[in-house]
Amino acid sequence: MRRYLALLVPMLLALSAQANDPPSKPIKSASAKEEASASAASGSASASASTKEERKPGAKESKESAKEAAVRAKEALAADELAARIAERLSVIRKEKDEAAARSAPKPVPRPAYAPPVRRPEVVKSKSDHGGGNGAAAGTLAVHGQVHWSYQGEGGPLNWGKLNPANAKCDIGERQSPIDIRDGIKVDLDPIAFDYKPSRFSVVDNGHTIQVNMGAGNYINVLGHNYELAQFHFHKPSEERVNGKSFEMVAHLVHKDADGKLAVVAVLIERGKAHSLVQHVWNNLPLEKNEPVQALTTMDMNDILPVKRDYYTYMGSLTTPPCSEGVLWLVMKEPIEISPDQLTIFSRLYPMNARPIQKNSGRLIKESN
Ligand SMILES: [Zn+2]
Repeated sequence: MRRYLALLVPMLLALSAQANDPPSKPIKSASAKEEASASAASGSASASASTKEERKPGAKESKESAKEAAVRAKEALAADELAARIAERLSVIRKEKDEAAARSAPKPVPRPAYAPPVRRPEVVKSKSDHGGGNGAAAGTLAVHGQVHWSYQGEGGPLNWGKLNPANAKCDIGERQSPIDIRDGIKVDLDPIAFDYKPSRFSVVDNGHTIQVNMGAGNYINVLGHNYELAQFHFHKPSEERVNGKSFEMVAHLVHKDADGKLAVVAVLIERGKAHSLVQHVWNNLPLEKNEPVQALTTMDMNDILPVKRDYYTYMGSLTTPPCSEGVLWLVMKEPIEISPDQLTIFSRLYPMNARPIQKNSGRLIKESN
């Protein structure tokens, strides 16, 4: 019995000391030690009841009385009881510790499950996206929408490419419009087949120009390819030049094919006699910007075409952001006329809404012979 007590007492002391330790101490190694010593204790107790106890009497004093054996058995039983009690106490201590750990742990444990650590990388990601665009300043401008494209100042043509990464072509495109049309190759160009008919229309002041949206059913055919007229609008002065010469205005008739490819017919406008179709548009000018006014009459787009249908043609781009390329340009050689009063009406709304001339970059220009 004394032997067991000698083993058990320091163990209990160690346990009680450990129970008072803060939970931050190495709990696992301590409990592993406990488990080891506990199993050692119970192991030695049961071992003493079997092999050890049997070997001792057999080896040393074979004359050991049955009474002594009974006493030893009783001692072993008491030791077993004690070991069981210790094991019980141990489990209580362990349980208390686990509960204490659970009470103090909740803060650190759910943290990884909360959103912040997940959200943080997203914030970082979007920041890096801004930086990955056309530069941080350009990204900020575009994101906050503080600077809209225009024809002058901060939003002017030289900054279009920087206002939004989607406008990159405005800066780096090699087939941009408008151009100064010169040195064209004179060939027998197929005439543009115009298939226009009187159509419903609406007029909108979109903040950049006056635009006329056309009802369906107006087509051109170029080299066997069909394009439908979507809208036309005006620029002052004309965006395109011919041999360096600029015109008072230009009308751009924007056509689209089934695949969304664009063909723009440009009709140059000179100062001269009043034009009935232009007057028809001016008569329907909306009072508010960005609010289209549906006209009660129809418009026949044949009326805007010059008598002679010779033209220049080259591949270019939209002349407004995003400056998308792959646009087929068809510039009528013969200008039409509008009156000084009609010019004044437009210039009161848009005194200057023309993009500057762009590099030709060796593009081929063809013109009717
Ligand atoms: Zn235009």
